[in-house]
Amino acid sequence: MTTPVNNILSQYGTTIFATMSQLATEYNSINLGQGAPDLDGPLEVREVAAKALIEGPNQYPPMMGIPDLLKAVADHNKRFYGLDVDWQREVMITSGATEALCDCFMGLLNPGDEVVLIEPLYDSYLPIIRHIGAVPKLVRVEPPHWELPRNELEAAFSDKTKLLVLNSPMNPSGKVFNEDELAFLAGLLKKHDAYAICDEVYEHLVFDGQKHHPLMCLPDMRERCVRIGSAGKTFSLTGWKIGYLTAAPALMGAIAKAHQFVTFTIPPHLQKAVAYGLGLGDDYYSNFTKEMQDQRDLLAAGLKEVGFKVLDSQGTYFLTCDFSGLGFEGDDAAFCEYITKEVGVTAVPTGAFYQADGPSHFVRFCFCKQPAMLEEAVKRLKAHFL
Ligand code: PMP
Ligand code: GLN
Repeated sequence: MTTPVNNILSQYGTTIFATMSQLATEYNSINLGQGAPDLDGPLEVREVAAKALIEGPNQYPPMMGIPDLLKAVADHNKRFYGLDVDWQREVMITSGATEALCDCFMGLLNPGDEVVLIEPLYDSYLPIIRHIGAVPKLVRVEPPHWELPRNELEAAFSDKTKLLVLNSPMNPSGKVFNEDELAFLAGLLKKHDAYAICDEVYEHLVFDGQKHHPLMCLPDMRERCVRIGSAGKTFSLTGWKIGYLTAAPALMGAIAKAHQFVTFTIPPHLQKAVAYGLGLGDDYYSNFTKEMQDQRDLLAAGLKEVGFKVLDSQGTYFLTCDFSGLGFEGDDAAFCEYITKEVGVTAVPTGAFYQADGPSHFVRFCFCKQPAMLEEAVKRLKAHFL
């Protein structure tokens, strides 16, 4: 057949997460690549889903989401960030944060619009933006401290800028944007009359007593920002693919136009269970953060003993590690393949989070795994490299 397929998406291979997970399965390797917990989230949340599945209803729920979940998302915004949200006009439920992001790009962008993004970045942003014909303007935060490049950001904004995509806490760097950095970004958004898509899927994974600050909470940002969360991350149920999006009515109207044609609606039993989960007590949220922080510390200490240079991770599930001290000759992709096959531990290459020409001596390890698994991974790495 010679009829061409889409010429943007066909430039992309299979995502690094699927590729490395498949290799990990094939080699029976401990998978610290793809960001997925090894332990399912709260039983009580899963029980609500199971009961709702049996008792129904199991027909199309309302397009924007079931009222219980819309209200729960609005309450969560108030409880954690003091945001007043109208659940009937400002919340929408999606098939994971992935669909929420896609809906935002489809609903808000026209061909030729410019979008400012910060590398390294999550892999689903650029293909969709480029597919629409919008123009990405990439700015980098550089390891080891991932500082905000203010001059480059100022230069990246123009009168064609429609959107900023901001991921905080940030995958894969583990950077959590502070209030000063957010204020700077807010200034650029106002100056250029642009919107921000705030990917906040790791909002409850901020460590060391720091706090997550949604850009939406800053002065004059309430109407300009779309805030995206993910039940997959917040309740360690990544396979459920339930995302939630909060935005002022003018933006929400446009974004919902995409949702109605992309998925239209989301499984009702899972929505009911996530509504229940969002209402869990403060102890759920604080234990969750504390457990992940302990796992971060355990893995970071072990990887340092192996000889990696481990960069600080203020949030997310991830540690970025420089492997150049281990004597391996080859780039990040080769290193990840090598340790999967020869050591039985899998990571993902940090270069996969760049459009092109990213650094080639960093890999990302994921720590949302039980301590015994992290310890075994470190043991295998030590046995090989020491
Ligand atoms: N954004 C970021 C930064 C992520 O790491 C992920 C990973 N899952 C997503 C969005 C997608 O979230 P979901 O699984 O809810 O679609
Ligand atoms: N967000 C997860 C990660 O960064 C994986 C998501 C996916 O597999 N698409 O590892």
